Amino acid sequence: MNTRSSVLLMLLLTFTVNADDVDYAIARAAMVDEVHFYATLARDTGEEALNEDVMQALGTVERHEFVPARQKPFAYENRPLPIGYGQTISQPYIVAIMTDLIEPGRDDIVLEIGTGSGYQAAVLAKLVKHVYSIEIIEALADEASARLARLRYDNVTTKLGDGYYGWEEHGPFDAIVVTAAASHVPPPLVRQLRPGGRMIIPVGGQFMTQQLLLLEKTDDGTVITRQIAAVSFVPLTGKH
Ligand code: SAM
Repeated sequence: MNTRSSVLLMLLLTFTVNADDVDYAIARAAMVDEVHFYATLARDTGEEALNEDVMQALGTVERHEFVPARQKPFAYENRPLPIGYGQTISQPYIVAIMTDLIEPGRDDIVLEIGTGSGYQAAVLAKLVKHVYSIEIIEALADEASARLARLRYDNVTTKLGDGYYGWEEHGPFDAIVVTAAASHVPPPLVRQLRPGGRMIIPVGGQFMTQQLLLLEKTDDGTVITRQIAAVSFVPLTGKH
């Protein structure tokens, strides 16, 4: 191939890559609009709309980077998608309300249980100081850790383990986001929530509708629980 052909080929490849990026950006903007529409309709957070910063984070994180190749055409549909090992990347609307409900602040340290693809951690990383995330399936933990590093989410630290027990050495946390359904609220997680902190967690059995709960720990350590919505998550596994 002569120099002219090589330059033409490079230009063609560059154009193709950019065209994909543009398509994804358009699809992402449509997804954000849909999430906004849902949120104003359902009002699961008790507010008319979701926080502007949360919407912006959702509009920036490239969900197509967090799904397997064959799922990329569906990456911006407002639904969960399979990520292998019987697990899913959560529905964007659910990611949005869970993020909104913990009221993320710029200086917050957040713990996530259930790294999965790393998508929820990436959304949180846009809004808080640092995210610690635990995943129990080794292959998913490895993939998510490599993906988050490649995409330069430098304020996310992941580990392989059973999230039921939290990550004591980095606590107490300003917020805890649990993305798998537990049969009960894990006491170690309540202990690792700082006074004034918030935890969002789906609670219920595997084959029944679960309840998304918002827990707020008051300054005197009392926990106030609010029921948010009926949801359907994969179960929190482990030996606990
Ligand atoms: N947050 C993920 C994302 O953005 O892609 C989606 C999470 S998926 C709905 C739930 C994840 O929780 C799965 O990857 C599953 O392996 C993980 N999980 C289940 N039980 C766990 C446990 N005890 N500790 C840590 N992770 C767990």
